[in-house]
Order: sequence, then C-alpha cells, then structure tokens
Amino acid sequence: MSGLLELTVAEAAGRIAAGEIAAGEYFDAWRAAAAGDELNAYLWRAEDGVEGTGGPLAGIPVAVKDIFCTEGVPTTAGSRILAGYAPPYTSTAVRRLGEAGARVLGKTNMDEFAMGSSSENSAFGPVLNPWDRGRVPGGSSGGSAAAVGGGLAPCAIGTDTGGSIRQPASLCGIVGLKPTYGAISRYGMIAFASSLDQCGALTRDVTDAALLLAALQGRDPCDSTSVGIEGGVEAPSREDLKGLRFAVPGELARDAIDSGVRAVFEATLETIERLGGAITEAPLPHAEHGISAYYVIAPAEASSNLARYDGVRYGMRAEGAGDLTEMYEKTRAEGFGAEVKRRIMLGTYVLSSGYYDAYYGRAQRVRTKIASDFAAAFAEFDFVVTPTSPSVAFGLGEKTDDPLAMYMSDFFTVPMSLAGLPAISIPAGLAEPDGGGPRLPVGFQIVAPAFAEQRLLEAAFALEREIGFDAKPGEGAGG
Ligand code: GLN
Repeated sequence: MSGLLELTVAEAAGRIAAGEIAAGEYFDAWRAAAAGDELNAYLWRAEDGVEGTGGPLAGIPVAVKDIFCTEGVPTTAGSRILAGYAPPYTSTAVRRLGEAGARVLGKTNMDEFAMGSSSENSAFGPVLNPWDRGRVPGGSSGGSAAAVGGGLAPCAIGTDTGGSIRQPASLCGIVGLKPTYGAISRYGMIAFASSLDQCGALTRDVTDAALLLAALQGRDPCDSTSVGIEGGVEAPSREDLKGLRFAVPGELARDAIDSGVRAVFEATLETIERLGGAITEAPLPHAEHGISAYYVIAPAEASSNLARYDGVRYGMRAEGAGDLTEMYEKTRAEGFGAEVKRRIMLGTYVLSSGYYDAYYGRAQRVRTKIASDFAAAFAEFDFVVTPTSPSVAFGLGEKTDDPLAMYMSDFFTVPMSLAGLPAISIPAGLAEPDGGGPRLPVGFQIVAPAFAEQRLLEAAFALEREIGFDAKPGEGAGG
C-alpha cells in the first residue's frame, strides 16, 4: 500500500492508465492516508472511492482548498459565517479536474476568506506544519500545502491573491504554482479580491504542477476574465538553462531576509549558472511598495465582495435580532473573525469618498508602476527570481498579534499578483530559522511574463532536477 503513496501524480496516472494499478485501490490508499490527518489540514474528507474513469488524471485524488464551491459538499472558506453551507453548484476548476478523471479527496483548511499568511485565521483551528507541528504551514492555502507536504494528499489546488499558494508551498517544502491572472476560471471560487484571485496547483514536483494546470486552464464562459493558455500546457522536459537570462531585483534582494534563506537563495543562483543560465541584478523600483498597494486594493475589493454575507442568502444567521438591521449586524459580528473585520473596515475606509483618491487611486497607480517595472524587466530578461518567503516557517502564534509583521510574509509574492504574472515556488533546500532550531524548507520563486507558463515550467523543471531536493518531514528536522 505505502508504495502507492510514494508515486508522483504523473507516475500514478501513467500506471493507472496502463492498468497496472486499479484507480479504486489508489484512491482508497489516499483516503486512508487522509483519514490519519493530525495537522488539521482537512475540513471535510470523501467517504467513498472512485469508479473507473478516463482522462489524463483518471483515478487521481485531489485535495481542494475549501474556497472552491463543490455541489452538495460543505464549503466554508474557513469562515463561521459559511458553516453548514453546501453549494448547489461546482466551481469550474473542480469540474474541469473531474472531467480529466480526478476526484475530490477532501476540502482543506485555510485562513478565513483566504486572508492570512499562516492559516491561523481559520474559524476551524490552525493548520500545523508537517515539518514541525509547533510551526505554521503558511497561508492562506495552508491546509492544501500541509496535506501535500505531510503525505495526506498526492496533490492539491488552492488560490493565490497575494502569495497564498507560493508562500505555504515554500514553508511546506513543495511546489506551488500561481498561473497568470485569467489562465483558470474563477467561477465558483469564493471571492476575496477579484482582480487578484487566481487558482493554482500545490504538488510534489513541477511535472505534477504542469499536469494539473493542463486540466485546470482554459476559457470559461462563466468567468469573463478567463482566457486560458494558448496552446495548452505540456509536461516539461528541459534539462538545462542555456541562453536564459534571470533577473534578481536589487531592491528585493537587499531587504530583510533570514540569513539561512539568503544562503539557499544564493546557492540556487549558482545552480542556475551551472545549468547555463545568466544571472543579472536588475531594477524593479516599485516592487517594494507592493505590500502597501496590496493592503489598500485587496481590502477594498474584499469589503465589496463580503457584503453578500448578510444572514439572508448564505450560511449562518444570528439568533435573537429585533429587526433587519440588527440581524445583519449580529450575523456579521458573530460570523466574521478579527482579520476579516479588519479588512472590511480598511477597505470601506479607503473607498470612502473623502479618501478614495488619496488611498485607492494612489494604490492603483502604484499597481500600474509595478506592472511597468516587470514589463521593462521582461524586455531584457526571461525570468525574475526571488526567495518565495523572507523566512522559513515561523512558530504558531508568533505573528498573530502583529498584523504588519504577518503582512510582510508576502513581501516577495505580492508584486507578481498585482501585475497578474505567473510565478512558481520550488523547494530549493533547507535552512535553520534565524532564532536557531531544526532546518526547514526554503522556496525559490521564478516569475515569467503573462501566459508564459510553459517556459516557466520548463525552467523550473530543469532547476528542480539539478537541485535534487529530496528531504522529507521528519528526516529534514535536525538533519
Ligand atoms: N497573505 C495575503 C493576505 O493575507 C495573501 C493572501 C492570499 O493570497 N489569499 O491577503
């Protein structure tokens, strides 16, 4: 049985297609693994297995972040306000995985409405990091990342608004891919900040990320911002980086990074050079203002998107209200957690008529500048690279009282989201936390021009091969 769990998704899909493994047996092996969840990674798990299906992902179980609507299955977005909600329809992302033959293994825990970087903002308790249960798995797709990193799922999907796929992938030692905005439909994906939200894959390796992206991407008439990836996506095969030019943003690289993370980042740059790639420092002058702009734009959109949770149409309704206004107020007061309330207040404030230009208008101008910086960089370079996260996994509770420190976790991932660009985080090594302790995974981020996913995957594949990261939770600790 356990041998089955060692296979990558690509290997398992190949063996299922060849008839060497029964789809039902494979799915059941993963169901048993998921049933042993001690990380609070799952909020719901599938009760039955699969029958024979066709398609490139036939028989493959996928852990799905609990932000994707799935017909008849509880979908909470990590919020008390949606407790007990079972949507009447399925998101396009999950439907497309199903059409490729995959099945939902479970719904994964997350920061409430995807707001957070540690998965501690879930109404259903924090997710634990599989490498060290005293630490966070990152967020907001922490349940999906912990499930894959902790051997509770072969692959997962999540959403990334400002880093929520890449940062938890980095902290859990797996691959996280955020595609170009518009590559995958957002239909049925509970909205946080609609101009930034994007579905993507959390997997053991780059090939599996390509396999999931191939199934997920595509234009969808239900989401007018979806366009798909022209030419589709294939399994990557490139073995070198000859002739490719990689830019390291000078501004980003000088900022506060743990020394262990910096060492792994620099070693990875040397690996790129060994494979024939050229490394050059290049300016990305406005990227350092990404966090400031993001924390105006994302809350502004969230304050509007979350207005629909009023106790009338979805989920919970507070008891004992005297009239309609009181019912709205009580429902939202009881249903939303502290971070969500903070964002709604912030968003409402920056959109208010007296402050709209000073905050929202200015943040949008910064967003445009960041996009132009990337456009200028991509006129000269093939990729931009950064560490994914400034630190390895931090301790549970370490940043919960300091929202600004928590927000800085996404320093390296937010600029790409603002510019709508595809980016991948691959595990690049292990490093000690700055305060000392067992070594933990470090992610390396590669960014490409819009819709250049295939080139991004090819480069990531070549680099992944050369890095040869094969540490596992338990072995890495203390090693
Ligand atoms: N951590 C960021 C936030 O809290 C990003 C979250 C995300 O990408 N969903 O908004």
